[in-house]
Amino acid sequence: MIKRLLVANRGEIAVRIIRSCREMGIETVAVYSTADSGSLHVRLADQAVCIGPPPSAKSYLSAENLIMAALHTGCEALHPGAGFLSENAAFARLCGSGGLVFIGPSPENLELLGNKVQARATARKYGLPVTPGTDAVETENPRRTAENAEKLGFPVIIKAAAGGGGKGMRIVKNAGELEENIAIARCEAEAHFADGTVFIEKYLENPRHVELQILSDGSGNVAVLGERDCTVQKNHQKLIEESPAPAVDPSMRKAMAAGAVPLFRELKYRGAGTIEFLVEDGSFYFMEVNARVQVEHPVSEFVSGVDIIREQILACTEGRMSIAPRDGTENSGWAIECRINALAPGRVNRLEIPGGPGVRFDSSLYPGCTVSPHYDSMVGKLIVHDTNREKALARMNRALGELVIDGIAVNTNRQRWIINHPIFRSGSFGTSYYSEIEKEVESVL
Ligand code: ADP
Repeated sequence: MIKRLLVANRGEIAVRIIRSCREMGIETVAVYSTADSGSLHVRLADQAVCIGPPPSAKSYLSAENLIMAALHTGCEALHPGAGFLSENAAFARLCGSGGLVFIGPSPENLELLGNKVQARATARKYGLPVTPGTDAVETENPRRTAENAEKLGFPVIIKAAAGGGGKGMRIVKNAGELEENIAIARCEAEAHFADGTVFIEKYLENPRHVELQILSDGSGNVAVLGERDCTVQKNHQKLIEESPAPAVDPSMRKAMAAGAVPLFRELKYRGAGTIEFLVEDGSFYFMEVNARVQVEHPVSEFVSGVDIIREQILACTEGRMSIAPRDGTENSGWAIECRINALAPGRVNRLEIPGGPGVRFDSSLYPGCTVSPHYDSMVGKLIVHDTNREKALARMNRALGELVIDGIAVNTNRQRWIINHPIFRSGSFGTSYYSEIEKEVESVL
């Protein structure tokens, strides 16, 4: 077992990683920008190193500063968390050349899966149904592009091959708007990802977002920890996640796992990954792979009983996992996560954290802490588990009611409003659900 690991992230995910490491007997080194010197992850780690000023580009995204911090403190491995450099193949490669174990897949797999056009081709190769769409759009052939879009049928969605976080996506309703939107999408993609490659998918009007949690040991042993439904989204950003997915029946669950396992097996994938699908009219379509641990991983931890961070570390540092291959049908109960987002930065004066059976609050908040304007607005995740959806929702209601965060405005009451809405209760809705209720939700204080 390794002795020391650098946590190359901040906020709740850094705290989450530190917790598993401590249980495994691994010492942790936290990193922080000057805006985060008082953060919980800094307090909880065995050691902490300042890696730069508040802008992420000069701190959490500085490969050089992170690797220097790891080497100077005698770390053997680096956990990138989620976001920042977690899916950056060049960074993973640099870690390797510096003698550090990158807790994530190989640079080659990151390269392949980080490009959505290549990932789609790979999924197709292993027989997975893929969302109807094109390969990379050729700049020099607008006529072919127009024909391809016409063939798919409008509306279509233009996506950045290197995209993520909902950036660089544009929905196009008719042929007349295609060329201009492709040009805009290219510029956005170039600005955000330094790669202007875009492709086109058929835009499904109101699908569900369903994803499988995968763990793999790097030698072809693949464990599927079941699916999550992440259909409640605002501007393509997830707000509420649950497992199992209300729209997935046992035969679809089996088919999804049967389709996903060969892909991860053949890639000799290492660590945690998520394969995302759109589900419509009883069919599922591959969308992309996120080659890292995800924000919503705790719902899968609750239903599977597996510590995903621990398995990730074991897979990457020792080439083994403590669990046997499984297909997700072993899961039990129902778990739901509500993301707790700050509506504005500020100081937290009072904090009361919910507890009791089946309740988990992953957060970086503590009384007196400051929520910085420099980073993500998500300050916590409230996750509950019970035997079925109805009971889990009752538990979530209870836990949201116990959560008190004074000093900053948060979305707790809005989340409560959403989970009690008859449409959410019915379990039957698509990704446009949030936009339909947005006005009402956002009037809730
Ligand atoms: P990102 O990598 O930027 O998060 P994704 O490809 O994962 O982008 O898509 C994010 C969300 O955008 C999906 O969950 C879904 O709500 C919507 N979306 C993406 N592709 C399509 C599509 N072809 N049809 C309808 N909605 C889509």
